[in-house]
Amino acid sequence: MSELFVVAEHRLGEIREITFEMLWKAGELAQEHSHTVTAILLGHEVSPIAESISDRADKIIIFDDERLKNFNADIYKETIAGLIEESKPILTLIGNTSRGMELAPCLAVRAGLPLATDCIDIMFKDDKLIAQRQMYSGKIFSDVSFAPSAGYILTIRSGVFSKDRIGDRQAEIVKKDFPLKDMPLKKDFIEFVETAAGDVDISQAELLISVGRGIGEEENISLVKELAEALNGVVSCSRPIVDKNWLPKHLQVGTSGKSVSPKVYIAVGISGAFQHMAGVSGAGTIIAINKDPKAPIFRTADYGIVDDLFKIVPVLKDRVLETKKG
Ligand SMILES: Cc1cc2nc3c(=O)[nH]c(=O)nc-3n(C[C@H](O)[C@H](O)[C@H](O)COP(=O)(O)OP(=O)(O)OC[C@H]3O[C@@H](n4cnc5c(N)ncnc54)[C@H](O)[C@@H]3O)c2cc1C
Repeated sequence: MSELFVVAEHRLGEIREITFEMLWKAGELAQEHSHTVTAILLGHEVSPIAESISDRADKIIIFDDERLKNFNADIYKETIAGLIEESKPILTLIGNTSRGMELAPCLAVRAGLPLATDCIDIMFKDDKLIAQRQMYSGKIFSDVSFAPSAGYILTIRSGVFSKDRIGDRQAEIVKKDFPLKDMPLKKDFIEFVETAAGDVDISQAELLISVGRGIGEEENISLVKELAEALNGVVSCSRPIVDKNWLPKHLQVGTSGKSVSPKVYIAVGISGAFQHMAGVSGAGTIIAINKDPKAPIFRTADYGIVDDLFKIVPVLKDRVLETKKG
């Protein structure tokens, strides 16, 4: 039996979705292999947010200090490395987010542990750790194994695991003294800049209506926006739409955009290139509207409409609005 560490990510007083996803996977592994789940929470006045994960871990270790108010990879690295040294967890999970991408490599070097990044699955086969990653922009899946080590560090792609609670846990809260009060800082946090008002985070949306090059002209995007509005969904897009400056980059789905995990993903005029589809591997039901029956997206979609989007989208919108009226 060993501990599985999950480095909790939080922002502006809220636990981020990636933390719930990592706790779900850690919980599943813990159940299968009799390990325990320990969440590591660093911050300032973070005890209240520990509540939101207390039923998903066996232990929550909290370091609470003014110096931890804002993320700083140097301080996080030193603090977590100390804990790893002390507890020797078999696995430490970190989100493959902008913070995790900064923290994980330096932590791996500092702790002397092997690291695999952007993992989409984890398993133990005959007690050997296997991490699954995508290669060549999602075209192939690779199973990565490691040289024997006392522990391993993995960063986890957002949206690939469930956010649900798994198992029946009640965390013991362990508050530790922050050991690095006098550590000189090589960099400092200046300011948190929010995205512009009205911007949405497509990685959190439950229903996405995604528009691709099949839309033809910028002004036609309003068709898709109207359908999204009728369905209370959120608009996202493929890369050519961003390249043409028709929609902003933060709405792009795919390997060079965002990974999304909506319950329903409606792809309108999108061919289904692997760089795009790699971003929707966590989606529930995929519905494709494409006039080409041979479009690759139909290989992945759960439902497909082979027709002209300009015919289908307005009819769909009208039907939705009629149904809403009752
Ligand atoms: C390194 C790299 C990274 C990349 N990252 C991403 C990424 O993150 N996200 C991404 O999306 N792409 C990415 N791409 C680009 C990717 O390879 C594809 O070129 C892109 O996804 C295609 O976008 P699309 O499906 O909108 O356009 P197209 O491939 O041109 O497909 C348009 C589709 O619309 C259909 N269509 C046309 N007219 C109609 C109509 N009237 N009604 C119905 N259907 C119609 C067509 O049949 C066609 O299937 C990347 C490429 C590279 C090289």
